Amino acid sequence: MLKEFSLKGSTALVTGGGRGIGRAIALTLAEAGADVAIAARTISQVEEVASEILALDRRSLALKVDVTNSSNVDKMVSHTTNKLGKIDILVNVAGISGSASLDSFTDDSWNNIIETNLTGPFYCCRAVAQQMLKQRSGRIINVSSTSGAKATAGGSAYNASKAGLNMLTKVLATEFAPYNVCVNGIGPGWFETDMTKSSLKTSEQRSQVESIIPMGRLTDLRDLGLLAVYLGSPASSWMTGQVIYLDGGETAAFL
Ligand code: NAP
Repeated sequence: MLKEFSLKGSTALVTGGGRGIGRAIALTLAEAGADVAIAARTISQVEEVASEILALDRRSLALKVDVTNSSNVDKMVSHTTNKLGKIDILVNVAGISGSASLDSFTDDSWNNIIETNLTGPFYCCRAVAQQMLKQRSGRIINVSSTSGAKATAGGSAYNASKAGLNMLTKVLATEFAPYNVCVNGIGPGWFETDMTKSSLKTSEQRSQVESIIPMGRLTDLRDLGLLAVYLGSPASSWMTGQVIYLDGGETAAFL
């Protein structure tokens, strides 16, 4: 491996790491050499991923956390620092989806989506930044979505939360640049996970999804992990404030 892509000696914290995209990112970061703490609400899933990371001969921590609760988040960060020594890479993956026409959107579902997808990453960035700014190094990777750039009917809360996360990424990138802390986003297109499985159940549904992807196919979750390795590694030390869409070309037509 090129030494600039190695994460040996780095410590990462991945929210939403119990399954899907977060799990894939956590495992790929560990494969590239990082020790990885994983956080989500379902402790059994988080523990399973932590043991997969231990099996790769890396240190790991399984943390039960609700990112919408700022004191939970502060404890997650202090616990990770106490146990693993520092945090070099924060990956904000925890997120939920939800779609409804505006007139049927309840206060609760609006608040839940915004609090999980936008306020949660804000809490996590704020808690981790304290030490990253002090240590004058760090990487924050926010997992957004093509929905942060593309309007879709029914997505008022989800798309707004991801567009907000993209702007939070850019603002923090400019705020933290003097401290050598890089903040970037990954905008996944369609990936098969618990979040999307109901839209990919039948072959007709899958064909419909593939028809909006210029490359005409889905890809592995691991591709997102490989991009996270780049954004967490010395190879990307001058890359900040960017949202990189990994989407088979879906956003190419309009971005
Ligand atoms: P997923 O399989 O449902 O995983 C979501 C993860 O977030 C789970 O580990 C979940 O664990 C965690 N989570 C949700 N709410 C949380 C909370 N309040 N506190 C802590 N953890 C929480 O979905 P996914 O597809 O991997 O999605 C991961 C991220 O990628 C999301 O931000 C999503 O918006 C984004 N994304 C996904 C796609 C796609 O095609 N799959 C496309 C674009 C963007 P618990 O429920 O146990 O807490």
